[in-house]
Amino acid sequence: MDMKAKEFWFVVGSQFLYGPEVLETVAQRAAEMAAELTKVLPYPLIYKVTAKTNKEITDVLKEANYDDNCAGIVAWCHTFSPSKMWINGLANLQKPYCHLATQYNVEIPNEEIDMDFMNLNQAAHGDREHGFIAARLRMPRKVIAGHWTDKTVQKRLGDWMKAAIGVAVSKEMKVMRFGDNMREVAVTEGDKVEVQTKLGWQVNTWAVGDLVKEMNAVTEAEIDAMVEVYKASYDIATDNMDAIRYQAREEIAMKKMLDAEGCKAFSNTFQDLYGMEQLPGLASQHLMAQGYGYGGEGDWKVSAMTAILKAMGENGNGASAFMEDYTYNLVPGAEYSLGAHMLEVCPSVAAGRPRIETHHLGIGMNEKDPARLVFEGREGDAIVVSLIDMGGRLRLIVQDIHCVKPILPMPNLPVARVMWQAEPSLTTGVECWITAGGAHHTVLSYDVSAGQMKDWANMMDIEFVHITKDTTVEGLEKELFYNDIAWKLKNL
Ligand code: MN
Repeated sequence: MDMKAKEFWFVVGSQFLYGPEVLETVAQRAAEMAAELTKVLPYPLIYKVTAKTNKEITDVLKEANYDDNCAGIVAWCHTFSPSKMWINGLANLQKPYCHLATQYNVEIPNEEIDMDFMNLNQAAHGDREHGFIAARLRMPRKVIAGHWTDKTVQKRLGDWMKAAIGVAVSKEMKVMRFGDNMREVAVTEGDKVEVQTKLGWQVNTWAVGDLVKEMNAVTEAEIDAMVEVYKASYDIATDNMDAIRYQAREEIAMKKMLDAEGCKAFSNTFQDLYGMEQLPGLASQHLMAQGYGYGGEGDWKVSAMTAILKAMGENGNGASAFMEDYTYNLVPGAEYSLGAHMLEVCPSVAAGRPRIETHHLGIGMNEKDPARLVFEGREGDAIVVSLIDMGGRLRLIVQDIHCVKPILPMPNLPVARVMWQAEPSLTTGVECWITAGGAHHTVLSYDVSAGQMKDWANMMDIEFVHITKDTTVEGLEKELFYNDIAWKLKNL
């Protein structure tokens, strides 16, 4: 997917009542606002039309639905735009929609203000009429109010754009499953028809034997080139070059298969490596560094979510990683979670330059020791995200966390690791997470916020649960109970 081609459309609501001069001025100003905002937003905002009729609105929103580059609509009503005109367009809109409640002028000018000025600056009531119709239509939407040059407004609009990019990526998501899920695991299961209907994901399986065939076709020259790429990005801390070359062979073969099918995410399982010497470690990690999603043990949901959060992050490939809750430090006053995986943590979250190491891996059918990247995660505020299938609906759970420099060096732990403090505390956080049914696999992200995931869930029409510093188990239990009823009614 070419995210550089993605853009957002600025649609201004108006009417004929105030004469052509006002409309010309508004159109000029709207074009100026879009051009100025484009300079500071992560994606271009393209001024499209100052719409005065049902047909103009319906036409532009219909065009938005069918334009692959249009990732969303930003609407603003500079004046009263009678909103029955918007019903036909909005009722059929399939793109993310943000209502920017702003006005061109920042202040009310004491001397200058007259009825002409008022006619040009009437968003205060225009945006209310516009808000009503979206509320009446029960549309998923983001409302952002404030002057368009305000830094906070611009930041919020940019954050929403990235969430909308997450919607676009989701709707085009294809996941390549190498083999099935790990036997008997519940939380990695899910309804693939439901996720395709709701989220757009195409989740299908490919034979491990086909991957092995592709691996056998990789040339030594291709492997040489990949090893040079590894050397440029990572320190080599092993003498076992054969293991590194084997990972390069796996990476090249997987990338060929992913790209041939247009897949941005993949999963595999250590229980199905027939014909492979090593579980892909370094191979999966370096694919994630390039923006592909990954989930271990056949977890295709976390794989797709990893790819989506990466795309929502900085420059379309942010610091987001497939993660697993492993073990706790439960010492009072020093309570931390330690996250890791057998091999496959994305180096985008690394504090320093990762090392390539080889170690024995007891789990699975590894004939040889797999090479993997070993590093510590960096410090900073982050979130962990889990998508679960509740049967009849999907639930997205997000928890606020604070990553720290690991309090121990753990010299014998042969995998990448991230240590964090969870909100509201380790134990209450765990109780909330377990109560909500969150998985042991998550996406850990430093640059996608909980607010953006809330917007994404809203646009995707799925349940959203946020565990924050203020969450209590009692409050969460009530929220989940009410959500259960609400979603059953909604899905009737
Ligand atoms: Mn796992």
